[in-house]
Parts: sequence; structure tokens; C-alpha cells
Amino acid sequence: MRCPFCSSVDSKVVDSRDTETGIRRRRECLSCGKRFTTYERFEATPLWVLKKDGRREEFSHQKLLGGLLIASKKRDIAPERLGALVEEVENQLRGEHLAEVPSRVVGEMVMERLREIDEIAYVRFASVYRSFKDVAEMRTEIEDFLAHPPPTRRLPARRPRPAGDAGAELALDLGK
Ligand SMILES: [Zn+2]
Repeated sequence: MRCPFCSSVDSKVVDSRDTETGIRRRRECLSCGKRFTTYERFEATPLWVLKKDGRREEFSHQKLLGGLLIASKKRDIAPERLGALVEEVENQLRGEHLAEVPSRVVGEMVMERLREIDEIAYVRFASVYRSFKDVAEMRTEIEDFLAHPPPTRRLPARRPRPAGDAGAELALDLGK
């Protein structure tokens, strides 16, 4: 099991827990000292990811997490949060009992969640996953993002409505 931070293969298990579908192990890298979680499933059925060029590849938790860690470089995001994101996506996909899933679908599911966590990491990840042809396409993506921010960003902008105002507004609208 490679460390997602430094790729070292030496790690020790610091905690192990059985869940309904597998064993979750908390590991500590002996090389860089960082901690990460691995998840071993009881079921052996592989989940295949169909890539754009037609090739199939087995779904890899570590590989997807690795991509997210690169996209999140120097952003203040706990690796555990990204691990949880990957696990959520994997659980959802496996729960649907599909034999294979297009890589595009996996990417969209990850981006949807990453967008709620960090905008910069989202744009970085999207730029790789959607393999933008040129800068213009990237700009369209960013502009689209800014025009349609996730719901969490809109909350602070909401202004409190003065009490008793609602009725007056409604009457004005209907009067025309
Ligand atoms: Zn390490």
C-alpha cells in the first residue's frame, strides 16, 4: 500500500476497524510520518472504469485520491476530507451494482463534491479531468462556475427582509 503523499511502501497500521463491507485501516507512513486511510473490501467484484479511449481500468481509490491531492496542492484541505469524498463516490458507484462506469461520470461525481470544498482545487481537477483543449475552454468553465456558484456561497448574500414588507410587495405586484 503506497503512501499517497510520498509514495513510500512502508507504513504501519495504527488503527483497524471492521465495517459492514470491509476493513478500514488507519496507517502511518514510516517515511514521511503522514497518516492515511485504506479500505479493503470483502467483495471481490471489480468496478471497471471505461476510459475515453475505450480502455477499461479497475476503479482505484488510491489513484483517484492521488489526483485529488495533486489538485489540492497548497490548498488548505484536510486529506481526510478528500479520502471521504473518494469513498463516498466509490460507495455510490458500487451501490448501483454497475459492471462498468464511464470515467466521465466518475469525474463529474468528484467535481460536483470538490466544488463544494474548494474552488481552486475544483478548477484544477476539472482542467485535468475534462482535458481542456485550450485556454478559452478553461475560461468558459471558470466563468460558468462564477455565474453559478454552489449554494453554500450564496447564503451570506441573503438580506433579511424587514417584517411586514412581504404583504405590501405582493399587493403592488397584483395591482398592475
Ligand atoms: Zn509518506
